[in-house]
Amino acid sequence: MNVIFLGPPGSGKGTQAHKTSQDLGIPRLSTGDMLREHMKNDTPLGREARAFVEAGQLVPDGVVIGMIRERLAEPDCAQGVIFDGFPRTDAQAEALAKIVRIDRVLNLTIEDEAIVNRMKGRRVCPACGFTSHTSWLDGKEDCPKCGENLTIRKDDAPETVLERLKVYHAQTKPLIAYYQAQGLLESVDSGGDVADVEERVRKALR
Ligand code: AMP
Repeated sequence: MNVIFLGPPGSGKGTQAHKTSQDLGIPRLSTGDMLREHMKNDTPLGREARAFVEAGQLVPDGVVIGMIRERLAEPDCAQGVIFDGFPRTDAQAEALAKIVRIDRVLNLTIEDEAIVNRMKGRRVCPACGFTSHTSWLDGKEDCPKCGENLTIRKDDAPETVLERLKVYHAQTKPLIAYYQAQGLLESVDSGGDVADVEERVRKALR
């Protein structure tokens, strides 16, 4: 089963895609994580992507499509995958349609105002990728999974968040209509408690 998690930045795609990947036993493919890994390792792709990511802009289609195409060729993707943060443009969606069949697209919905608040408090672990929010951390600054110091993503700076939202509305939101027209879209209210959202996601995938 191939599932896409669509939705604005900060809508909880990463958290929900991670949970769904565990539930279904298939890998989560996050282009954001892949790009951050390239940037951390200072690879040529990471150097090409850095300026776009840090400005809140999309990395060129050819770069992310190439990355996804390579990853999909690996054996663990044979039973299906969860796409997290891909596709984000019409060109990416068209390219993906030529590689795999998509079974379901979950569109996580949330108000822009709630997004800005969520992203203000987001903390990530640079070592294991654990993502959390200050309101769940009880003042703790270390990763509850591996003990590393939690950090703030550079592109979660308030002015970059606003740019990422603008980019989402202009370039990614049209994919809602694209997948709706194919009868693949399920909208899931992503507001409120994580456990409640998880339950809504499970229902939408049934
Ligand atoms: P994310 O972790 O999904 O919020 O992605 C972080 C950043 O990585 C985005 O703001 C973009 O700069 C870049 N990025 C991630 N996925 C894509 C994609 N599918 N297309 C273009 N850029 C992407």
